[in-house]
Amino acid sequence: MDGTKVPRRSAAELAGLLDSPEIARLVSELEATRWTGRPGYPIRAMVGMALAKSLYSIPTWTRTVGLVSEHAALREAIGGEVPSVYACYRFGAKLRAYANLLDACIAGVLESLRAEHPGMGADVAIDGSDLPAYANGQRYVSKDGPERERFSDPDASWGHRSAVSTRKGGGYYGYKVHAAVDTATGLPIAWTVETASAAESPFALALIDKARERGFQVKTAIMDKGYDNGPIHDGCMDRDVAPVTALRKTERVKRGEHKPPSCEHGEWTFAGADYKRRATKWRCPTGECKPASRWVKADRLHPLIPRETARSRKLYHSRGAVEREFGRLKHEWALLPLRVRGLERVRLHADLTILAKLACALSRARAVPLAA
Ligand SMILES: [Zn+2]
Repeated sequence: MDGTKVPRRSAAELAGLLDSPEIARLVSELEATRWTGRPGYPIRAMVGMALAKSLYSIPTWTRTVGLVSEHAALREAIGGEVPSVYACYRFGAKLRAYANLLDACIAGVLESLRAEHPGMGADVAIDGSDLPAYANGQRYVSKDGPERERFSDPDASWGHRSAVSTRKGGGYYGYKVHAAVDTATGLPIAWTVETASAAESPFALALIDKARERGFQVKTAIMDKGYDNGPIHDGCMDRDVAPVTALRKTERVKRGEHKPPSCEHGEWTFAGADYKRRATKWRCPTGECKPASRWVKADRLHPLIPRETARSRKLYHSRGAVEREFGRLKHEWALLPLRVRGLERVRLHADLTILAKLACALSRARAVPLAA
């Protein structure tokens, strides 16, 4: 699972993360809660174990403890003493109880990343991706038998995954991670984990709100046709975000209602958008019509960034950023396979995985020397 393909990461990198102001703050805030694990390992060591698990792409605590125990440099990076597997589980429970501190740490890392990458979060790609549960996911008790009613993970549910390149689509049992990824850096800026059966599109606006709450000025939201509906379009517009979605082939689209205005001189051309007015301007190709231009109110069929424009195509093309990031999180950062059950634990696992990824991206951005 965590084979040789994952990037090699060093013990120095782990120590660097623990010493970064953002992670050090989380350690001191957790210390201030006066919680003591049994036996009482230092909080810095516990946070170090959580980061090491993602950094080295290890699905279980048992193997994380094994790896850190075997390597002197890693032991030293977390302060010398290796916490027990039991202590790691207990620490997970503590982090769930102090989810607000973890969330503040994630927000702090993102704020520092934004300082390194001005304009980060302007264009975000939003999508969901499957996280199969750590559970018996056989839908039927036996071949042609009744549908299974009790599963080892009661929060998980049956969802559908779409076909991607050579992989076939189909049903799976588990969760779905929904994320907004900055297309410029490829980094997630807001995410949530929900049970697999929950539809994707209702989470899009909440992700935009979360990104805004974290200080990102989202300008465009890029989504596939599953998100192409009126409420998402209007919700984006209410947030001053221009939605860029593939066109869903509805009855109105079949009737051609999505097309630009046209006249006997041909199809009219795009002549600009007015964000305040929430409308786009179109012109008669020869200018012979009176009036020669008119405004079209923005809706999902006629978005502010018209689908006919090169800008829209370019933005839509950048949507690949979210799929690539899901792939990296799953395969290089051990977002999968899940080895915890229950929505709250899966959420914590996703938060810690993405925090490790973001903290590494931050330390790399800071390490790049300024151009001479
Ligand atoms: Zn005309």
